[in-house]
Amino acid sequence: MSYTALYRKYRPTNFANVVGQDVIVNVLKNSIKYKHISHAYLFAGPRGTGKTSIAKIFAHAVNCLNFEEDICAACDNCKFLESNDTDIIEIDAASNNGVEEIRTIRDNVKLLPSFCKYKIYIIDEVHMLSTGAFNALLKTLEEPPAHVIFVLATTEPNKIPVTIMSRCQRFDFNKISEDALFLRLKFILEQENKSLPDNVLEHIALLSDGGLRDAINLLDQTLSLSNENISIDDVDKLSGKISKSIIFEIIDYLVNSDYPKLLDLIEKLSLEGKDYNDIVNNLLIFIRDYSVNLSVKDYFPEEYSNSLSKYEFSSDTIINISKVLNELLIEMKNTNDQKVLFEIYIMHLAEIINTKFSTNNSCQHLSQQPDEIINSDNQKVLTESEEINVADNEDYPKEENDNEGYNKIKKIRINNVLAGANKDVLNKINNCYDRVNDYISNKVYNSISALLIEAKVVVASTDYLLFTFKEESYVSVFDLNYKQIELFLNEVFDHKYKVVAITDNEWTEVRNEFILNKKNNIKYVFIDENDVSLEVSDSLDELENSALNIFGEDAISVK
Ligand SMILES: [Zn+2]
Repeated sequence: MSYTALYRKYRPTNFANVVGQDVIVNVLKNSIKYKHISHAYLFAGPRGTGKTSIAKIFAHAVNCLNFEEDICAACDNCKFLESNDTDIIEIDAASNNGVEEIRTIRDNVKLLPSFCKYKIYIIDEVHMLSTGAFNALLKTLEEPPAHVIFVLATTEPNKIPVTIMSRCQRFDFNKISEDALFLRLKFILEQENKSLPDNVLEHIALLSDGGLRDAINLLDQTLSLSNENISIDDVDKLSGKISKSIIFEIIDYLVNSDYPKLLDLIEKLSLEGKDYNDIVNNLLIFIRDYSVNLSVKDYFPEEYSNSLSKYEFSSDTIINISKVLNELLIEMKNTNDQKVLFEIYIMHLAEIINTKFSTNNSCQHLSQQPDEIINSDNQKVLTESEEINVADNEDYPKEENDNEGYNKIKKIRINNVLAGANKDVLNKINNCYDRVNDYISNKVYNSISALLIEAKVVVASTDYLLFTFKEESYVSVFDLNYKQIELFLNEVFDHKYKVVAITDNEWTEVRNEFILNKKNNIKYVFIDENDVSLEVSDSLDELENSALNIFGEDAISVK
Protein backbone atom coordinates (compact mmCIF):
# COMPACT_ATOMS: atom_id res chain seq x y z
CA MET A 1 0.00 0.00 0.00
CA SER A 2 1.31 3.41 -0.86
CA TYR A 3 2.19 5.81 1.90
CA THR A 4 -0.34 8.52 2.69
CA ALA A 5 1.16 11.74 3.93
CA LEU A 6 0.11 12.40 7.51
CA TYR A 7 -1.29 15.75 6.50
CA ARG A 8 -3.77 14.07 4.14
CA LYS A 9 -4.49 11.25 6.53
CA TYR A 10 -5.33 13.61 9.40
CA ARG A 11 -7.07 16.29 7.39
CA PRO A 12 -10.30 16.98 9.31
CA THR A 13 -13.48 15.78 7.63
CA ASN A 14 -15.93 17.28 10.13
CA PHE A 15 -16.11 20.31 12.40
CA ALA A 16 -15.25 18.29 15.50
CA ASN A 17 -11.77 17.50 14.17
CA VAL A 18 -10.83 21.03 13.21
CA VAL A 19 -7.85 22.38 15.18
CA GLY A 20 -8.12 26.00 16.31
CA GLN A 21 -10.48 28.50 14.60
CA ASP A 22 -13.19 27.83 17.21
CA VAL A 23 -15.02 31.09 16.59
CA ILE A 24 -15.21 30.60 12.83
CA VAL A 25 -16.37 27.00 13.25
CA ASN A 26 -19.13 28.08 15.66
CA VAL A 27 -20.41 30.84 13.41
CA LEU A 28 -20.49 28.51 10.41
CA LYS A 29 -22.26 25.77 12.41
CA ASN A 30 -24.89 28.21 13.62
CA SER A 31 -25.46 29.64 10.17
CA ILE A 32 -26.26 26.12 8.93
CA LYS A 33 -28.39 25.30 11.97
CA TYR A 34 -30.43 28.50 11.71
CA LYS A 35 -30.36 28.54 7.91
CA HIS A 36 -28.59 31.89 7.56
CA ILE A 37 -26.49 30.81 4.69
CA SER A 38 -24.75 33.41 2.60
CA HIS A 39 -23.92 32.91 -1.07
CA ALA A 40 -20.33 34.04 -0.90
CA TYR A 41 -17.71 33.66 1.81
CA LEU A 42 -14.17 34.95 1.95
CA PHE A 43 -11.75 32.94 4.09
CA ALA A 44 -8.62 35.02 4.64
CA GLY A 45 -5.52 34.09 6.63
CA PRO A 46 -2.01 32.63 6.68
CA ARG A 47 -1.16 29.37 4.95
CA GLY A 48 -1.89 26.11 6.70
CA THR A 49 -4.49 27.54 9.08
CA GLY A 50 -7.39 25.43 7.79
CA LYS A 51 -9.10 27.66 5.21
CA THR A 52 -9.50 24.99 2.53
CA SER A 53 -10.25 22.19 5.03
CA ILE A 54 -12.99 24.23 6.69
CA ALA A 55 -14.35 25.29 3.30
CA LYS A 56 -14.73 21.61 2.34
CA ILE A 57 -16.33 20.67 5.66
CA PHE A 58 -18.73 23.60 5.34
CA ALA A 59 -19.59 22.61 1.77
CA HIS A 60 -20.38 19.14 3.00
CA ALA A 61 -22.23 20.31 6.10
CA VAL A 62 -24.65 22.68 4.30
CA ASN A 63 -25.77 19.67 2.28
CA CYS A 64 -26.15 17.26 5.23
CA LEU A 65 -29.82 16.42 5.71
CA ASN A 66 -29.49 15.75 9.46
CA PHE A 67 -27.11 18.52 10.47
CA GLU A 68 -27.27 19.17 14.21
CA GLU A 69 -23.81 20.02 15.54
CA ASP A 70 -21.85 18.34 12.79
CA ILE A 71 -21.97 16.32 9.59
CA CYS A 72 -24.05 13.17 10.19
CA ALA A 73 -22.09 11.05 7.70
CA ALA A 74 -25.16 8.80 7.30
CA CYS A 75 -27.73 10.67 5.22
CA ASP A 76 -28.05 10.28 1.45
CA ASN A 77 -26.24 13.54 0.76
CA CYS A 78 -23.36 12.71 3.12
CA LYS A 79 -22.99 9.32 1.45
CA PHE A 80 -23.14 10.87 -2.00
CA LEU A 81 -20.48 13.45 -1.16
CA GLU A 82 -18.13 10.81 0.19
CA SER A 83 -17.59 9.46 -3.28
CA ASN A 84 -18.67 12.23 -5.67
CA ASP A 85 -17.16 15.63 -6.28
CA THR A 86 -19.70 16.92 -8.79
CA ASP A 87 -21.39 19.26 -6.32
CA ILE A 88 -18.30 20.52 -4.52
CA ILE A 89 -15.98 22.06 -7.08
CA GLU A 90 -12.50 23.12 -6.09
CA ILE A 91 -10.58 25.56 -8.26
CA ASP A 92 -7.00 26.62 -7.69
CA ALA A 93 -6.79 30.18 -8.93
CA ALA A 94 -3.01 29.97 -8.89
CA SER A 95 -3.17 27.68 -11.92
CA ASN A 96 -6.50 28.81 -13.41
CA ASN A 97 -6.36 32.56 -13.33
CA GLY A 98 -7.88 33.23 -16.73
CA VAL A 99 -11.15 34.79 -17.75
CA GLU A 100 -12.09 31.62 -19.66
CA GLU A 101 -12.08 29.46 -16.53
CA ILE A 102 -14.30 31.88 -14.65
CA ARG A 103 -16.65 32.13 -17.66
CA THR A 104 -16.95 28.35 -17.60
CA ILE A 105 -17.88 28.57 -13.92
CA ARG A 106 -20.40 31.28 -14.77
CA ASP A 107 -22.05 29.08 -17.38
CA ASN A 108 -22.07 26.00 -15.15
CA VAL A 109 -23.39 27.90 -12.17
CA LYS A 110 -26.81 27.97 -13.85
CA LEU A 111 -27.02 24.19 -13.85
CA LEU A 112 -28.62 22.63 -10.78
CA PRO A 113 -26.57 20.47 -8.39
CA SER A 114 -26.36 16.89 -9.59
CA PHE A 115 -27.63 15.39 -6.32
CA CYS A 116 -27.40 17.71 -3.32
CA LYS A 117 -29.13 20.89 -2.33
CA TYR A 118 -26.19 23.21 -2.91
CA LYS A 119 -23.42 23.38 -5.46
CA ILE A 120 -20.33 24.86 -3.81
CA TYR A 121 -17.41 26.46 -5.59
CA ILE A 122 -14.25 26.69 -3.52
CA ILE A 123 -11.74 29.02 -5.19
CA ASP A 124 -8.35 28.72 -3.52
CA GLU A 125 -5.74 31.51 -3.72
CA VAL A 126 -8.43 33.70 -5.24
CA HIS A 127 -6.16 36.77 -5.18
CA MET A 128 -4.29 35.22 -8.13
CA LEU A 129 -7.20 35.79 -10.54
CA SER A 130 -6.58 38.25 -13.35
CA THR A 131 -8.55 41.50 -13.48
CA GLY A 132 -10.68 40.11 -16.29
CA ALA A 133 -11.40 36.99 -14.28
CA PHE A 134 -12.38 39.05 -11.23
CA ASN A 135 -14.82 41.01 -13.40
CA ALA A 136 -16.34 37.81 -14.71
CA LEU A 137 -16.60 36.46 -11.14
CA LEU A 138 -18.21 39.69 -9.95
CA LYS A 139 -21.04 39.26 -12.49
CA THR A 140 -21.81 35.85 -10.97
CA LEU A 141 -21.58 37.12 -7.39
CA GLU A 142 -23.98 39.92 -8.18
CA GLU A 143 -26.81 37.51 -8.99
CA PRO A 144 -25.95 34.10 -7.62
CA PRO A 145 -28.52 31.34 -8.24
CA ALA A 146 -30.13 30.14 -4.99
CA HIS A 147 -28.40 26.74 -5.22
CA VAL A 148 -24.85 28.11 -5.47
CA ILE A 149 -22.36 29.05 -2.71
CA PHE A 150 -18.90 30.48 -3.32
CA VAL A 151 -16.10 30.10 -0.81
CA LEU A 152 -13.12 32.21 -1.77
CA ALA A 153 -9.91 31.48 0.12
CA THR A 154 -6.84 33.70 0.16
CA THR A 155 -3.60 34.37 1.97
CA GLU A 156 -3.57 37.92 0.58
CA PRO A 157 -6.98 39.56 1.10
CA ASN A 158 -5.46 42.99 0.33
CA LYS A 159 -5.21 41.92 -3.33
CA ILE A 160 -8.95 41.22 -3.64
CA PRO A 161 -10.97 43.99 -5.34
CA VAL A 162 -13.32 45.83 -2.99
CA THR A 163 -16.24 45.05 -5.31
CA ILE A 164 -15.71 41.33 -4.71
CA MET A 165 -14.97 41.73 -1.01
CA SER A 166 -18.17 43.68 -0.38
CA ARG A 167 -20.26 40.79 -1.66
CA CYS A 168 -18.68 38.21 0.65
CA GLN A 169 -19.09 37.32 4.29
CA ARG A 170 -15.51 37.54 5.50
CA PHE A 171 -13.78 35.26 8.01
CA ASP A 172 -10.25 35.98 9.17
CA PHE A 173 -8.33 32.86 10.08
CA ASN A 174 -5.75 33.25 12.83
CA LYS A 175 -2.47 31.45 13.22
CA ILE A 176 -3.03 28.34 15.32
CA SER A 177 -1.59 28.53 18.83
CA GLU A 178 1.53 26.51 19.70
CA ASP A 179 -0.44 24.67 22.38
CA ALA A 180 -3.14 23.62 19.91
CA LEU A 181 -0.49 22.52 17.40
CA PHE A 182 1.33 20.55 20.10
CA LEU A 183 -1.87 18.72 21.15
CA ARG A 184 -2.72 17.87 17.57
CA LEU A 185 0.80 16.52 16.92
CA LYS A 186 0.61 14.49 20.11
CA PHE A 187 -2.78 13.08 19.03
CA ILE A 188 -1.42 12.07 15.61
CA LEU A 189 1.60 10.37 17.21
CA GLU A 190 -0.68 8.33 19.46
CA GLN A 191 -2.82 7.30 16.50
CA GLU A 192 0.31 6.26 14.62
CA ASN A 193 1.66 4.34 17.62
CA LYS A 194 4.83 6.36 17.59
CA SER A 195 6.58 8.57 20.08
CA LEU A 196 8.81 11.62 20.13
CA PRO A 197 10.06 13.65 23.09
CA ASP A 198 7.72 16.48 24.07
CA ASN A 199 10.45 19.07 23.55
CA VAL A 200 10.79 17.94 19.92
CA LEU A 201 7.02 18.30 19.42
CA GLU A 202 7.08 21.72 21.07
CA HIS A 203 9.91 22.72 18.76
CA ILE A 204 7.97 21.56 15.69
CA ALA A 205 5.00 23.62 16.89
CA LEU A 206 7.25 26.64 17.39
CA LEU A 207 8.90 26.38 13.96
CA SER A 208 5.56 25.95 12.17
CA ASP A 209 4.55 29.52 13.00
CA GLY A 210 0.85 28.83 13.44
CA GLY A 211 0.43 26.63 10.38
CA LEU A 212 -0.99 23.16 11.03
CA ARG A 213 -0.09 21.86 7.58
CA ASP A 214 3.57 22.83 8.07
CA ALA A 215 3.54 21.31 11.57
CA ILE A 216 2.17 17.95 10.40
CA ASN A 217 4.48 17.85 7.39
CA LEU A 218 7.46 18.53 9.62
CA LEU A 219 6.27 15.80 12.00
CA ASP A 220 5.99 13.46 9.02
CA GLN A 221 9.57 14.23 7.94
CA THR A 222 10.86 13.89 11.49
CA LEU A 223 9.26 10.45 11.86
CA SER A 224 10.92 9.35 8.64
CA LEU A 225 14.36 9.86 10.20
CA SER A 226 15.92 6.55 11.07
CA ASN A 227 17.98 7.69 14.07
CA GLU A 228 17.02 6.54 17.53
CA ASN A 229 17.29 9.76 19.47
CA ILE A 230 15.66 12.49 17.49
CA SER A 231 16.62 15.92 18.77
CA ILE A 232 15.65 19.52 18.22
CA ASP A 233 18.68 19.87 15.96
CA ASP A 234 17.36 17.14 13.65
CA VAL A 235 14.11 19.04 13.37
CA ASP A 236 16.02 22.23 12.62
CA LYS A 237 17.91 20.53 9.83
CA LEU A 238 14.69 19.22 8.28
CA SER A 239 12.86 22.50 8.58
CA GLY A 240 15.59 24.54 6.89
CA LYS A 241 15.55 26.83 9.94
CA ILE A 242 18.72 27.84 11.74
CA SER A 243 19.38 25.91 14.93
CA LYS A 244 20.88 27.33 18.10
CA SER A 245 23.87 25.01 17.74
CA ILE A 246 24.74 26.61 14.38
CA ILE A 247 24.57 30.04 15.96
CA PHE A 248 26.89 28.92 18.77
CA GLU A 249 29.24 27.46 16.16
CA ILE A 250 29.37 30.81 14.33
CA ILE A 251 30.01 32.70 17.57
CA ASP A 252 32.75 30.24 18.59
CA TYR A 253 34.57 30.67 15.28
CA LEU A 254 34.28 34.45 15.59
CA VAL A 255 35.58 34.50 19.14
CA ASN A 256 38.45 32.15 18.29
CA SER A 257 39.20 33.95 15.02
CA ASP A 258 38.87 30.67 13.19
CA TYR A 259 38.01 32.29 9.87
CA PRO A 260 38.67 29.33 7.54
CA LYS A 261 36.21 27.22 9.52
CA LEU A 262 33.76 30.12 9.70
CA LEU A 263 33.85 30.58 5.91
CA ASP A 264 33.47 26.81 5.44
CA LEU A 265 30.40 26.86 7.65
CA ILE A 266 28.91 29.77 5.71
CA GLU A 267 29.55 27.84 2.49
CA LYS A 268 27.84 24.77 3.96
CA LEU A 269 24.81 26.76 5.09
CA SER A 270 24.62 28.29 1.64
CA LEU A 271 24.65 24.86 -0.01
CA GLU A 272 21.91 23.71 2.36
CA GLY A 273 19.85 26.63 1.09
CA LYS A 274 19.63 28.38 4.45
CA ASP A 275 18.17 31.86 4.50
CA TYR A 276 20.71 34.54 5.46
CA ASN A 277 17.99 36.75 6.95
CA ASP A 278 17.16 33.85 9.21
CA ILE A 279 20.81 33.48 10.28
CA VAL A 280 21.12 37.20 11.04
CA ASN A 281 17.84 37.20 12.98
CA ASN A 282 19.06 34.26 15.02
CA LEU A 283 22.37 36.00 15.72
CA LEU A 284 20.34 38.94 17.01
CA ILE A 285 18.29 36.58 19.19
CA PHE A 286 21.57 35.19 20.54
CA ILE A 287 22.73 38.69 21.46
CA ARG A 288 19.36 39.42 23.08
CA ASP A 289 19.47 36.16 25.05
CA TYR A 290 23.07 36.83 26.05
CA SER A 291 22.13 40.21 27.50
CA VAL A 292 19.03 38.86 29.25
CA ASN A 293 21.06 36.01 30.71
CA LEU A 294 23.55 38.52 32.13
CA SER A 295 20.95 40.55 33.97
CA VAL A 296 18.13 38.12 34.80
CA LYS A 297 19.08 35.02 36.75
CA ASP A 298 17.24 31.76 36.01
CA TYR A 299 15.46 33.25 33.03
CA PHE A 300 16.61 30.48 30.70
CA PRO A 301 16.90 26.73 31.26
CA GLU A 302 20.21 25.89 32.95
CA GLU A 303 21.79 24.23 29.93
CA TYR A 304 21.13 27.18 27.62
CA SER A 305 22.12 29.66 30.29
CA ASN A 306 25.47 27.88 30.74
CA SER A 307 26.12 27.92 27.00
CA LEU A 308 25.56 31.67 27.00
CA SER A 309 27.70 32.32 30.08
CA LYS A 310 30.84 30.87 28.55
CA TYR A 311 31.27 34.07 26.51
CA GLU A 312 32.46 37.38 27.86
CA PHE A 313 31.37 40.35 25.84
CA SER A 314 31.53 43.92 27.06
CA SER A 315 28.39 46.03 26.81
CA ASP A 316 30.03 48.05 24.03
CA THR A 317 30.71 44.89 22.08
CA ILE A 318 27.09 43.78 22.46
CA ILE A 319 25.77 47.12 21.26
CA ASN A 320 28.20 47.21 18.34
CA ILE A 321 27.33 43.67 17.28
CA SER A 322 23.61 44.39 17.26
CA LYS A 323 24.17 47.61 15.31
CA VAL A 324 26.13 45.76 12.65
CA LEU A 325 23.56 42.95 12.46
CA ASN A 326 20.69 45.42 12.10
CA GLU A 327 22.56 47.27 9.38
CA LEU A 328 23.19 43.96 7.63
CA LEU A 329 19.47 43.09 7.70
CA ILE A 330 18.72 46.38 5.94
CA GLU A 331 21.56 46.04 3.44
CA MET A 332 20.55 42.49 2.53
CA LYS A 333 17.27 43.79 1.10
CA ASN A 334 19.24 45.69 -1.55
CA THR A 335 21.68 43.07 -2.71
CA ASN A 336 21.59 40.26 -5.22
CA ASP A 337 24.35 38.38 -3.45
CA GLN A 338 23.44 37.97 0.20
CA LYS A 339 26.26 35.52 0.81
CA VAL A 340 29.03 37.94 -0.10
CA LEU A 341 27.46 40.72 1.94
CA PHE A 342 27.00 38.35 4.85
CA GLU A 343 30.67 37.36 4.68
CA ILE A 344 31.82 40.97 4.62
CA TYR A 345 29.70 41.84 7.65
CA ILE A 346 30.61 38.71 9.54
CA MET A 347 34.30 39.62 9.15
CA HIS A 348 33.44 43.04 10.49
CA LEU A 349 31.77 41.31 13.45
CA ALA A 350 34.95 39.31 13.95
CA GLU A 351 36.83 42.55 14.28
CA ILE A 352 34.37 43.95 16.82
CA ILE A 353 34.42 40.78 18.89
CA ASN A 354 38.19 40.45 18.80
CA THR A 355 38.92 44.08 19.49
CA LYS A 356 38.97 43.13 23.15
CA PHE A 357 41.74 40.60 22.60
CA SER A 358 43.96 43.12 20.87
CA THR A 359 44.11 45.12 24.08
CA ASN A 360 46.36 42.47 25.55
CA ASN A 361 49.74 43.98 24.74
CA SER A 362 50.24 47.64 24.38
CA CYS A 363 46.81 49.09 24.03
CA GLN A 364 47.16 51.26 27.10
CA HIS A 365 49.94 53.07 25.29
CA LEU A 366 47.92 53.27 22.14
CA SER A 367 44.96 54.74 23.90
CA GLN A 368 47.14 57.45 25.27
CA GLN A 369 48.46 58.05 21.77
CA PRO A 370 45.35 58.47 19.67
CA ASP A 371 46.18 57.64 16.12
CA GLU A 372 44.18 59.55 13.58
CA ILE A 373 44.38 56.95 10.89
CA ILE A 374 43.18 54.06 13.01
CA ASN A 375 39.47 53.99 13.63
CA SER A 376 38.73 56.12 16.65
CA ASP A 377 35.57 54.15 17.48
CA ASN A 378 37.55 50.99 17.90
CA GLN A 379 39.97 52.81 20.10
CA LYS A 380 37.10 53.71 22.39
CA VAL A 381 35.90 50.12 22.61
CA LEU A 382 39.43 49.04 23.47
CA THR A 383 39.82 51.23 26.48
CA GLU A 384 36.37 50.61 27.88
CA SER A 385 36.64 46.87 27.71
CA GLU A 386 40.11 46.57 29.16
CA GLU A 387 38.99 45.34 32.56
CA ILE A 388 37.35 42.24 31.13
CA ASN A 389 40.30 41.47 28.93
CA VAL A 390 42.84 41.27 31.64
CA ALA A 391 40.80 38.44 33.11
CA ASP A 392 40.73 36.24 30.05
CA ASN A 393 44.13 36.96 28.55
CA GLU A 394 45.28 33.43 29.17
CA ASP A 395 42.50 31.81 27.20
CA TYR A 396 43.60 33.10 23.85
CA PRO A 397 46.83 32.46 22.01
CA LYS A 398 49.16 35.26 21.00
CA GLU A 399 48.53 34.83 17.26
CA GLU A 400 45.19 36.51 17.78
CA ASN A 401 47.14 39.76 17.93
CA ASP A 402 48.50 39.48 14.44
CA ASN A 403 46.14 42.16 13.33
CA GLU A 404 47.32 44.55 15.95
CA GLY A 405 50.77 44.24 14.43
CA TYR A 406 49.28 45.07 11.09
CA ASN A 407 47.54 48.16 12.42
CA LYS A 408 50.93 49.43 13.58
CA ILE A 409 52.62 48.95 10.22
CA LYS A 410 49.78 50.57 8.31
CA LYS A 411 51.36 54.01 8.61
CA ILE A 412 54.70 52.67 7.54
CA ARG A 413 53.10 51.09 4.50
CA ILE A 414 51.39 54.36 3.63
CA ASN A 415 54.75 56.10 3.94
CA ASN A 416 56.43 53.49 1.77
CA VAL A 417 53.87 53.51 -1.02
CA LEU A 418 54.15 57.30 -1.14
CA ALA A 419 57.94 57.10 -1.04
CA GLY A 420 57.93 54.85 -4.11
CA ALA A 421 54.81 56.27 -5.80
CA ASN A 422 54.92 55.42 -9.47
CA LYS A 423 52.31 56.64 -12.00
CA ASP A 424 53.13 53.90 -14.52
CA VAL A 425 52.55 51.12 -12.00
CA LEU A 426 49.33 52.80 -10.89
CA ASN A 427 48.06 53.07 -14.49
CA LYS A 428 49.00 49.48 -15.15
CA ILE A 429 47.09 48.28 -12.08
CA ASN A 430 44.05 50.40 -12.82
CA ASN A 431 43.97 49.34 -16.47
CA CYS A 432 43.60 45.73 -15.49
CA TYR A 433 41.80 46.18 -12.15
CA ASP A 434 38.66 44.69 -13.74
CA ARG A 435 40.35 41.30 -13.42
CA VAL A 436 39.31 41.44 -9.75
CA ASN A 437 35.69 40.98 -10.91
CA ASP A 438 36.55 37.70 -12.57
CA TYR A 439 36.87 36.09 -9.15
CA ILE A 440 33.40 36.99 -7.92
CA SER A 441 32.20 33.41 -8.23
CA ASN A 442 35.55 31.85 -7.30
CA LYS A 443 35.16 29.57 -4.30
CA VAL A 444 38.28 30.75 -2.49
CA TYR A 445 38.40 34.42 -3.41
CA ASN A 446 34.76 35.41 -3.96
CA SER A 447 34.44 37.53 -0.84
CA ILE A 448 37.82 39.20 -1.34
CA SER A 449 36.90 39.93 -4.92
CA ALA A 450 33.59 41.42 -3.73
CA LEU A 451 35.46 43.55 -1.20
CA LEU A 452 38.05 44.84 -3.68
CA ILE A 453 35.35 45.78 -6.19
CA GLU A 454 34.40 48.42 -3.61
CA ALA A 455 37.96 49.74 -3.51
CA LYS A 456 40.12 52.11 -5.57
CA VAL A 457 43.89 51.91 -5.90
CA VAL A 458 45.08 55.49 -5.42
CA VAL A 459 48.84 55.05 -5.08
CA ALA A 460 51.09 52.28 -6.32
CA SER A 461 54.77 51.56 -6.10
CA THR A 462 56.66 48.52 -7.31
CA ASP A 463 55.97 46.73 -4.01
CA TYR A 464 53.04 48.53 -2.37
CA LEU A 465 49.45 49.38 -3.18
CA LEU A 466 47.31 51.90 -1.30
CA PHE A 467 43.56 51.20 -1.49
CA THR A 468 40.74 53.51 -0.50
CA PHE A 469 37.16 52.70 0.49
CA LYS A 470 34.12 54.90 1.04
CA GLU A 471 33.22 53.12 4.26
CA GLU A 472 35.23 52.48 7.39
CA SER A 473 33.64 49.03 7.71
CA TYR A 474 35.24 47.91 4.44
CA VAL A 475 38.62 49.08 5.66
CA SER A 476 38.13 46.99 8.80
CA VAL A 477 37.36 43.90 6.75
CA PHE A 478 40.34 44.67 4.52
CA ASP A 479 42.65 44.93 7.55
CA LEU A 480 41.43 41.60 8.88
CA ASN A 481 42.11 39.89 5.57
CA TYR A 482 45.22 41.69 4.34
CA LYS A 483 47.26 38.50 4.03
CA GLN A 484 44.63 36.75 1.92
CA ILE A 485 44.28 39.93 -0.14
CA GLU A 486 48.03 39.87 -0.87
CA LEU A 487 47.77 36.24 -1.97
CA PHE A 488 44.79 37.13 -4.11
CA LEU A 489 46.58 40.06 -5.78
CA ASN A 490 49.55 37.84 -6.46
CA GLU A 491 47.19 35.56 -8.34
CA VAL A 492 45.48 38.38 -10.20
CA PHE A 493 48.48 40.59 -11.07
CA ASP A 494 51.21 37.99 -10.82
CA HIS A 495 53.22 40.19 -8.48
CA LYS A 496 53.48 40.17 -4.72
CA TYR A 497 52.34 43.57 -3.45
CA LYS A 498 52.12 44.66 0.16
CA VAL A 499 48.80 46.32 0.75
CA VAL A 500 47.24 48.97 2.93
CA ALA A 501 43.78 50.54 2.92
CA ILE A 502 42.24 53.73 4.29
CA THR A 503 38.94 55.55 3.88
CA ASP A 504 38.36 58.23 1.25
CA ASN A 505 38.35 60.88 3.98
CA GLU A 506 41.65 59.71 5.40
CA TRP A 507 43.06 59.67 1.89
CA THR A 508 42.10 63.32 1.39
CA GLU A 509 44.16 64.22 4.48
CA VAL A 510 47.10 62.02 3.48
CA ARG A 511 47.11 63.39 -0.05
CA ASN A 512 46.91 67.02 1.07
CA GLU A 513 49.81 66.44 3.40
CA PHE A 514 51.74 64.69 0.64
CA ILE A 515 51.19 67.61 -1.73
CA LEU A 516 52.18 70.10 0.93
CA ASN A 517 55.34 68.15 1.75
CA LYS A 518 56.18 67.92 -1.92
CA LYS A 519 55.82 71.71 -2.27
CA ASN A 520 58.13 72.14 0.68
CA ASN A 521 60.49 69.66 -0.91
CA ILE A 522 60.07 67.18 1.97
CA LYS A 523 60.72 63.69 0.69
CA TYR A 524 59.37 60.40 2.00
CA VAL A 525 61.98 57.73 2.60
CA PHE A 526 61.45 54.00 2.66
CA ILE A 527 61.20 52.34 6.11
CA ASP A 528 61.74 48.63 6.60
CA GLU A 529 58.54 47.54 8.28
CA ASN A 530 60.20 44.50 9.85
CA ASP A 531 62.66 46.70 11.71
CA VAL A 532 59.92 48.96 12.87
CA SER A 533 57.71 46.10 13.99
CA LEU A 534 60.55 44.89 16.21
CA GLU A 535 60.89 48.32 17.65
CA VAL A 536 57.16 48.41 18.18
CA SER A 537 57.16 45.37 20.33
CA ASP A 538 60.25 46.52 22.18
CA SER A 539 59.38 50.05 22.86
CA LEU A 540 56.43 52.11 21.92
CA ASP A 541 58.28 55.33 22.61
CA GLU A 542 60.73 54.57 19.89
CA LEU A 543 57.87 53.91 17.50
CA GLU A 544 56.37 57.20 18.40
CA ASN A 545 59.58 58.95 17.43
CA SER A 546 60.14 56.98 14.30
CA ALA A 547 56.84 56.15 12.74
CA LEU A 548 53.74 57.53 14.39
CA ASN A 549 54.33 61.01 13.07
CA ILE A 550 55.41 59.88 9.68
CA PHE A 551 53.66 62.67 7.88
CA GLY A 552 54.91 65.44 10.08
CA GLU A 553 58.18 67.26 9.52
CA ASP A 554 60.10 64.95 11.81
CA ALA A 555 62.90 62.42 11.62
CA ILE A 556 61.00 60.13 9.23
CA SER A 557 60.28 62.57 6.46
CA VAL A 558 63.61 64.13 5.53
CA LYS A 559 64.44 66.83 3.06
ZN1 LIG B 1 -25.63 13.99 6.61
